[in-house]
Amino acid sequence: MVTWDVVVVGGGAAGIIAAWNAQRNGARTLLLEKTGRLGTKILISGGGKCNICHDGPLEDVLKAFRKNEALFLRPSFYRFTNKEVVALLTDRGLEVYTRPDGRIFPVHQTAKDVVAILESLLKDESVTIRTEAPVVGIDPIDGGFRVSVGEPIPPNSGYRHAAQGNVETVTARTVIVSTGGASYPNCGTTGDGWDWMRQLGHSIVPTLPALAPIYLHFTEFQTQLSGISVRDGVLKARYQGKEIARWRGDTLLTHQGVSGPCALGISRVIAEQTESTEVTIECDFLPDLSFEQLSEEILAIPANRTVLSYLTGFMAERVGMQLLQDSQIDEHIISRRLERKPRNRLVEAIKGWKLGPVRVVPLEKGEVTAGGVSLVEVNSKTMASQVLPGLFLCGEILDIAGPVGGYNLQAAFSTGFVAGESAGLLSAKLVDHGVATG
Ligand SMILES: Cc1cc2nc3c(=O)[nH]c(=O)nc-3n(C[C@H](O)[C@H](O)[C@H](O)COP(=O)(O)OP(=O)(O)OC[C@H]3O[C@@H](n4cnc5c(N)ncnc54)[C@H](O)[C@@H]3O)c2cc1C
Repeated sequence: MVTWDVVVVGGGAAGIIAAWNAQRNGARTLLLEKTGRLGTKILISGGGKCNICHDGPLEDVLKAFRKNEALFLRPSFYRFTNKEVVALLTDRGLEVYTRPDGRIFPVHQTAKDVVAILESLLKDESVTIRTEAPVVGIDPIDGGFRVSVGEPIPPNSGYRHAAQGNVETVTARTVIVSTGGASYPNCGTTGDGWDWMRQLGHSIVPTLPALAPIYLHFTEFQTQLSGISVRDGVLKARYQGKEIARWRGDTLLTHQGVSGPCALGISRVIAEQTESTEVTIECDFLPDLSFEQLSEEILAIPANRTVLSYLTGFMAERVGMQLLQDSQIDEHIISRRLERKPRNRLVEAIKGWKLGPVRVVPLEKGEVTAGGVSLVEVNSKTMASQVLPGLFLCGEILDIAGPVGGYNLQAAFSTGFVAGESAGLLSAKLVDHGVATG
């Protein structure tokens, strides 16, 4: 039986770059992917447009992550930078542009082009690829690892089932695990890697949704507001009255609650609350105005103008009507009839429209999964497991979850690059020392 120098488990952003770089470093590399194709999650990233990475100095890019994550990611971000990610793709013909907010996308707005280029990298290096190859276990053996591969899993099963039937084994000197998180299970990401890592002695930081919509206990009326957006407001989360998270930008009202950049931005903090259903959500429509300034502005509305017409200057009419109703104000009232007390109630409502308590932050709908293999057990310079020699980890399987903006693919690409390089170099050393000959 052939012993591979490197077996990479999981053909997403991290695994593809890891396999490519391992082979470039002289290692005979096998890439095993559960679904029928590589880069399944990249294809849906950025709404199918793929926000490849984030522009700017690396120290600024790192600041977008939590402190411990940034500390861990720093060596790999410098080893394979945002500029190098872009160069790798543009050298092969991809045209990219940078949005004013720093997010980098393909000009033709298609993630397919990105995946096609990544596949071409693997082809040119002659990496051996097996799709529909669900790994069901990884076991350390003398001088390496035995990787067990099950039978293909039908996509309509959501890839959740452990593979049934015949199990085939492959052996490897080193293994890179890049099985991603547990959101969007139809992409093949069902959190398989964490079970193996636990069995191999790693600690798993509890996994939680991040960059996810927030489902609320909506009333019948609120569900009818579905599809309405709040532009450039601030969405806030409160726990026992205390503000625990806020995000400025757009919010989309849905049948179930809230989505869009603001909801995604605060979802991780809410999910981290052990009693997340005690968290309430509210929206400030005019974050640039203080309560006093807003009160003055309302006082300055021309006397015969309706208050509702003032509100519709910055919110949808149906939301305006709801705000007036919440503030016990007649929806036809004209400005000069608005007295001090109801005006104060309206100011309070505009600055903190109560959307209600959280029902759930759905893990499967998150763009990333927070938590995962504990960063203190992985060498940040090599991506080597500190628990088991020969094992490497990269991408979302690790306890990393950046914000929206191309940060998560950058983390996958950079950690994948380093894992591939380190595993490739280590396997060459093992061959030199005659360990586990093929
Ligand atoms: C809707 C959506 C939009 C997103 N948009 C962006 C964006 O625009 N920019 C950005 O930076 N990030 C974005 N992200 C996040 C980003 O896509 C991920 O963080 C990134 O893809 C993680 O890369 P990875 O290689 O670690 O994992 P993945 O890309 O998830 O790849 C893991 C792979 O492992 C395979 N696998 C799992 N288990 C097994 C097994 N047992 N055997 C074999 N293979 C297995 C899976 O099938 C999968 O292909 C988005 C995510 C989602 C869901």
